[in-house]
Amino acid sequence: MSVLIFIDHSEGKIKKTSLEALSYGAALAKQTDVSAEGVLLGTVSDELSSVGKYGVQKIHCVSHESLNKLDAEQYISIISTIAGSCGATVIILSHTNTGRAIAPGLSAKLKAGLVTGATALPDTSAGFLVKKNVFSGKAFCTVSIKSAIKIISLNPNVYQVKSGEGSAEIIQENIPVNPALVTIKSETKASGEIPLTEAEIVVSGGRGMKGPENWGPLEELAKLLHAATACSRPVADAGWRPHNEHVGQTGIAIAPNLYIAIGISGAIQHLAGVNRSKVIVVINKDPEAPFFKSADYGIVGDAFEILPKLILAVKKLKGVA
Ligand SMILES: Cc1cc2nc3c(=O)[nH]c(=O)nc-3n(C[C@H](O)[C@H](O)[C@H](O)COP(=O)(O)OP(=O)(O)OC[C@H]3O[C@@H](n4cnc5c(N)ncnc54)[C@H](O)[C@@H]3O)c2cc1C
Repeated sequence: MSVLIFIDHSEGKIKKTSLEALSYGAALAKQTDVSAEGVLLGTVSDELSSVGKYGVQKIHCVSHESLNKLDAEQYISIISTIAGSCGATVIILSHTNTGRAIAPGLSAKLKAGLVTGATALPDTSAGFLVKKNVFSGKAFCTVSIKSAIKIISLNPNVYQVKSGEGSAEIIQENIPVNPALVTIKSETKASGEIPLTEAEIVVSGGRGMKGPENWGPLEELAKLLHAATACSRPVADAGWRPHNEHVGQTGIAIAPNLYIAIGISGAIQHLAGVNRSKVIVVINKDPEAPFFKSADYGIVGDAFEILPKLILAVKKLKGVA
C-alpha cells in the first residue's frame, strides 16, 4: 500500500507546489504507516533521486517528451495505471490548474472519493477526514472519504515544504504513451518572474493607483521582496495590468504568506480570492475602506507617499539603500 504523489513540473523544474504535495504525502504515508511514492510524467533537469529528501522512497517515471505538457486524458490514464501497480490507496495532487484538470477524471476512473483544496493533513484516527475551505475561504468543512482509494488536491501554500535526508529509487515505467489527443499550437507566457499562485509574497494594486504609469514603485517593492504582482479586477479590465494578475472571485485565488494591498477597497469579490493569505497588509487613504476589516496590519494614508517610504525601509533592511 502506498500514498502516491503526482509531481508536476515546468520548464524542467519541479514546481514548488509539488514539493509541498510531496512533503504532505510523505507525512500522510508516515502517519498511516505505508510507503510514499511519486509519479513524474515527462522529463526534468532536476536530479530526481534527490527528491527523496522530501520523504518519498520511489519515483515512477514515464519519461516521454510528449508528456512535458499537460494532456489530461494521458495523465489520468498513466497515473491510474501506476496507482494500480503500486497499490496506492491515497493519491495526492496540488490544487493548481494541472491538479484541477486531472483530479476529477482520476477520481471517476478509479472510483475514488476526491477532496479538492485540502488545507491540512487528514485526520486518520477514526476514518479519513479531510479539512478544506468552502464559500471562497469564508468557512472550513471536514469531508469524510470512505472509498477504497482516496484523492486529495492540496491548496498551494498551506503545507510547508519539509526536507531532510534520503534519496529516492527511480523506476522507469514501461507504459505505452498514445499519440497526444491535444496539440498545443502556441503558448503565451504570463508576465512576471514569479508565478502568482506560487508566490510567497504578493504586492497588489487597485484603482487607487490611478493609472498604469504609477506601477513603477509597486513593481520595485515587489522585486525587492521577491514578490509577484497582482491587481484588482477593474485594474485588469481597464488594461492597466494584464488579466493574469487579476485576483478575486472571477480571477485567480491565491494564498501567499503575505499579501500587500495598495489602493484596493476590499470588495467581497476581491476578498474571495485573497482571504486565505496568511498575513494581509492594507494601504488605503480611506480609514473606512472595508479591506481594513480583513487586514492584519493597516496603513491609513496616500499610497504615493507611503510606497516610497516603504521601499526605502525595505532597502535599508536589506542593506541596499
Ligand atoms: C460578479 C462580480 C465579480 C467580481 N470579481 C472581482 C474579482 O475577481 N476581483 C476584484 O478585484 N474585483 C471583482 N469585482 C469587482 C469588485 O466588486 C470591486 O468593484 C473591485 O474589487 C474594486 O476594485 P478596487 O478596490 O481596485 O477599486 P475601488 O473600489 O475604486 O477602490 C479603490 C480604493 O483605493 C483607495 N485609494 C484611492 N486613492 C488612493 C491613494 N492615493 N492611496 C491609497 N488608497 C487610495 C480608495 O480609498 C478605495 O478604497 C467583481 C464584481 C462583480 C459584480
